[in-house]
Amino acid sequence: MSSPSPARTRTSVAIVGAGPAGLTLANLLRAAGVDCVVLEAESREFIERRPRAGFIEEWAVRALDRHGLAGRLLERAETQAEFEFRFDGARHVLRTAELSGSRHFVYPQPLLVTDLVASFADERGGDVLFGVRDVRLHDVAGDRPAVTYADPVTGLRHLIDCDFIAGCDGARGVSRAAIPADRMVMTRHDHGVAWLALLAEAPPSADGVVFGIHESGLGAHMARSPEVTRYYLQVAPGEIAENWSHERIWDALHTRLAASGARPLTEGPLAEKVVLDMHNYVVEPMAYGRLYLAGDSAHLVAPIAAKGMNLAINDALLLADALIAHYRGDDGGLAGYSAACLRRVWQYLEFSQWLSDVLHGASSGDRFRAGTASARLRRLLGSPSAAQSFAGLYIGEEADL
Ligand code: FAD
Repeated sequence: MSSPSPARTRTSVAIVGAGPAGLTLANLLRAAGVDCVVLEAESREFIERRPRAGFIEEWAVRALDRHGLAGRLLERAETQAEFEFRFDGARHVLRTAELSGSRHFVYPQPLLVTDLVASFADERGGDVLFGVRDVRLHDVAGDRPAVTYADPVTGLRHLIDCDFIAGCDGARGVSRAAIPADRMVMTRHDHGVAWLALLAEAPPSADGVVFGIHESGLGAHMARSPEVTRYYLQVAPGEIAENWSHERIWDALHTRLAASGARPLTEGPLAEKVVLDMHNYVVEPMAYGRLYLAGDSAHLVAPIAAKGMNLAINDALLLADALIAHYRGDDGGLAGYSAACLRRVWQYLEFSQWLSDVLHGASSGDRFRAGTASARLRRLLGSPSAAQSFAGLYIGEEADL
């Protein structure tokens, strides 16, 4: 017996993935009158709670605001104006806002995702299909691209014909695999360390991001909200999170973030404890036929410098502009999309690599790496022009060079 033909609908742009990239794109397309449908493997409740990023650069917030997407963020987010290194028992504060003229906004990713879903689905009447199963991309190199998926309740397959597919399905999605291996280059880089990522139910214990450089490994502190703080501990690659008890974690954080004059860390229950390998990849080009990748599906940047979500938003802004221009008869944006995104991607990767070398040199057990990391730190802290350049890169200014 043959299986029934899939139910068939049509849209202009099928967007796979409802993360920051897919939802930003969907909002911009809908506002410009370009039809789109978002397909998301998880439930709405799940994506509105999934903890990850928290730092959004000022240029990205301003861009979201220009499209009416930052109202709640601007009402609720704190801003941060400084960055701190701690080592050898001393604090070294860089006033990044004074140096660069821009700030970070501290707004947890689940809140941004919640706002973007509400704006697209509830306020603008857009279509998000949550919980879809077995998403497949078809004919991406031809004239009649389509996406199929299985309905989560009935199991029946549905087919969406479209003009374009936006692959916004993150690091573990299916879109990237639709590009044949001989039509793209995937570059990978491993920092050779892992971080234990922690979410503590405790208020922040410092005014800015703090990186504690210590020979036993890095310790890091980043605010998330008045009640929640993200901490990181450098651990060996392949480490198991369960090897780190509550007491062991707080002992290590106190040791690695210690400095004279620093506020003591406020401890709290740990709501998240996962080991992340610090690695990166980049897919070039970020497009194939009528498929355009955006965000983590195209490039993963280890969260060392808090860049990934900012890149996802940048890609979405560029892709929206390019697709809207296409429907007005101009294909220049689509032709230049990948190169335009990759300029910022490589700038951010270079900065993450630089910061990784500085942060992990002391614990590398390698005198050369420790010595060069320490030389970089002295230059950064002793030279106003080096500090200004650092602040600009940290906040993502001039990253399209
Ligand atoms: P995602 O957010 O991964 O969204 C992809 C969506 O696609 C998901 O909802 C997923 O469920 C869905 N999906 C996957 N497969 C399928 C499929 N087959 N079919 C349909 N849907 C699918 N970045 C920053 O800029 N600042 C930070 O402070 C920061 N901190 C971080 C801290 C941690 C611990 C981590 C892990 C990351 C951090 N990042 C940070 C990175 C940031 O979270 C990511 O770069 C960002 O989520 C990328 O957005 P995206 O939309 O590309 O992908």
